[in-house]
Parts: sequence; structure tokens; C-alpha cells
Amino acid sequence: MNIWLLVLALLFPGAAAAQPPAGRAVAITFDDLPFAAVPADDNASLVGVTSRLLQHLQAEQVPAVGFVNEAKLYREGSLDPARVGLLRSWLQAGFELGNHTASHPSLNRVPLDAFEADLLQGETVTRPLMQSAGRTLRWFRHPFLHLGTTPEVRVAFQEFLAAHGYTAAPVTVNNSEWVFAVAYARAQAEGDTEAAQRIGAAYAPYMDAVFARAEQQALDLFGRPIPHVLVLHANALNADHFDALAAMLRQRGYRFIELADALQDSAYASTVGYSGFNGESWLELWSRQAGLRPSQQPPVPGFVTQWAGPAANRGY
Ligand SMILES: [Zn+2]
Repeated sequence: MNIWLLVLALLFPGAAAAQPPAGRAVAITFDDLPFAAVPADDNASLVGVTSRLLQHLQAEQVPAVGFVNEAKLYREGSLDPARVGLLRSWLQAGFELGNHTASHPSLNRVPLDAFEADLLQGETVTRPLMQSAGRTLRWFRHPFLHLGTTPEVRVAFQEFLAAHGYTAAPVTVNNSEWVFAVAYARAQAEGDTEAAQRIGAAYAPYMDAVFARAEQQALDLFGRPIPHVLVLHANALNADHFDALAAMLRQRGYRFIELADALQDSAYASTVGYSGFNGESWLELWSRQAGLRPSQQPPVPGFVTQWAGPAANRGY
């Protein structure tokens, strides 16, 4: 430690808080596999995006779970082996796959039986792929983080998940990464590399503010840091800029852990008894249950929202 920092720390013990606390941990998840928000969806481009993203994850030693929408494996009604190959490359790189339904419906909008049928349709390729990799399909992620608007639906769906061997994967770090991703893919598709660079460069600083907010929410609620679960998407933005995101997280004192290890923390034993219509993180839902009003999300820079266009309102 620098001598002046040592003197400062002795004079002002509170100043030590300026250092990132040791022991911060986050589990990283990617939704909408095999791809979301890419400038082009020909097979060569998709292989490029997937391999760049997986290389980042391997280089940063990030254990990740990728959540699949199997409807995206089909082109003109038939299963595209090249797209199945993208999922295979996640497994071959040592990552785990989860179910994110076939067609990304909202549990807040479609009847429970239709939603469950879509979920089961969403495991027809993934389950055998996981088996052939010696793994068991075990994670489910709700599209749009829509958990069902009534307690009856939430309880019935929970029972359905358990009966099919699934655990719902929570999210604690709510964020608008997908807005950056849509903007980035569009700037790239239009050949505006300068705009794409600018959007990419704004991504990690934005996520820095997103993490500061989630950390504060955990402190307000539990009085201590908790291991977080982050949702991102399998897009060109992360294929090109995940390294900056990982560097920011290490700077904040984070190490990357398995989803199952994050969920060992007692915070995740807290039930989610409340769910409004809009998708929210578990931290936000727990906060509302405790009578706390979640703070505003950090703003997405205006030029990013502009590039994203109406898709910025889609949600995930
Ligand atoms: Zn999704």
C-alpha cells in the first residue's frame, strides 16, 4: 500500500471503503442463445460472434450458463444444423446450457399451459445435447423476467419446474445491456464503425453504475454484500466488449463464480412472493416485499437509445 493511503486509512478508517471490498462475487448468465442482436445472421457471422464471445469467457475464466430459445435454431421451418453447432460450441468450450423456452413468450401474457408447452418444446434439442456432453439440463430462465402476475400461476409454475427437474435462475443485477446491444448491432449493420465504437466504449461505464446500484440494494436489504447473478445476452456487443466489462468487474473486486455456487448464499432462500407486470430483478422484488422502493436504474446515454430505436422498449 502507498504510504499516503496507509496514513489516510489510519486517520480516516471510513476511507478504506474507497477500496473495493474483498469477496465480491458474480455469476454470469447469457440469454437468447444461440444469438441476439447481431449485425448479420448468416452462418459465418454467427460463428464469428459465438467464438469471439466464448474466447472472452475462456480468457477471463468466467463460468457461464447460456439460456437457449430453440425457435432460433430453425430456419424456414427446419432445424439448421449450423445453429445447433453454435450450441455445441458452448458445450465444447465447457459451458452449461439452460432452457429459456422455445419462442420467448411472457408468462404474464400467455396462459400457463401454453407457456409450459413452449418450455417443453424448448428442450427438444438442448436436453440431448447436454446429455451427450455428460450434463443434466437443470436451469430455467423466465423470458422478460416475467414470473406470472398471480400467486396461483407462480406456485403452479414452480411445481411444474420442479417436476421437470428445473431450477429457476434468478437475476439480481437488472440492466439495459440489450439496449446497448441493439444499438451496437444496428450501427455495425449500417457500417457506422465510429458510432459502434462509441456505443461499445459506453457499455462498461454504464454497467459500472448498474453494479453500484445492485450492491446498494443488497446492502439496504441484507445489510451485507451478496453474490450477484447477472443477465447478459449472446450478442455482438459482448463478443466485442466483454473484456472491458470483465475488467470493470475485477476493478470493483469481483470474482466470477458458478450460478449454483451463487445460489448457495442464504439471500436466495428468500421467497419471491411479489411480482408486478414489468420484469424486475429478484433484488427489486425482494425490496418491494420489504416495503422498500427500488431506486431508478442508471440512465442509458441518449445516443445509445437513439441508435437502438423502438427496439429499446422491447425488454428481455
Ligand atoms: Zn430472453
